[in-house]
Amino acid sequence: MGDRPAIALTSRTLPLRATGKTRPTETVARSYIEAVEAAGAYAWLVPNAGDLDRVPALLERVDGLLLTGGDDPHPHLFGEEPLPGIDQVDERRDRFEIELVRAARERGVAVFGICRGAQLMNVALGGDIYQDIANQTDSKVEHTQSRIDDGPWHRVEVVPETRLASLVGAGSMAVNSFHHQACRRVADELVVSARCPADGLIEALEDPGAAFFLGVQWHPELTALAGDPASQALFAAFVEGARRRGPAASK
Ligand code: MN
Repeated sequence: MGDRPAIALTSRTLPLRATGKTRPTETVARSYIEAVEAAGAYAWLVPNAGDLDRVPALLERVDGLLLTGGDDPHPHLFGEEPLPGIDQVDERRDRFEIELVRAARERGVAVFGICRGAQLMNVALGGDIYQDIANQTDSKVEHTQSRIDDGPWHRVEVVPETRLASLVGAGSMAVNSFHHQACRRVADELVVSARCPADGLIEALEDPGAAFFLGVQWHPELTALAGDPASQALFAAFVEGARRRGPAASK
């Protein structure tokens, strides 16, 4: 393996038609894979598992966990029934990822959450989310960007003296935006590391006490590949956090 850490990437289960049949298929967008590998790690695609007993063994074999984007976390996870505006859910994936997050924290495995991943991290630790920004807030910001390319769409304000600020700088930064949900109540162990200044919604959160436990609402995997230094810095720090745990430490 050399000194390349192994990063587990969570999957989205989609019905895909191939060789004449439509079957549930585990998928990971290439952008996540390429961003992880460009930062110096191996991307290991992990299928969603109904069997949670396999989580400890998986985490013994990887150094980092990347929670990728996808469906809405099921509101049952934070004690609500589905409300108007909720989109597709996948409770099997929710259960698997929540177990991964909790077990990764116990083991000091670096965790990076993107979009749904950031929300999932918050929910796994006892926080909750807006099921639909348009229905539950008075935000005037369009968080589901309509521009064709993946470039910056709205600004976020990075909170000073956070891990995120140490990586991308405190203050205003432009990000892309492809979400209709957002973190609402922040889990006790987490702090907000960025907000959208126009509506106050949470755009990033982190555990200040962990080696690397950061979730962002935007999609740095797209902009990292396009050469954006701030996005590349996030993946570099994630991979470095995974390297510090390192394959040797898990032996
Ligand atoms: Mn946004």
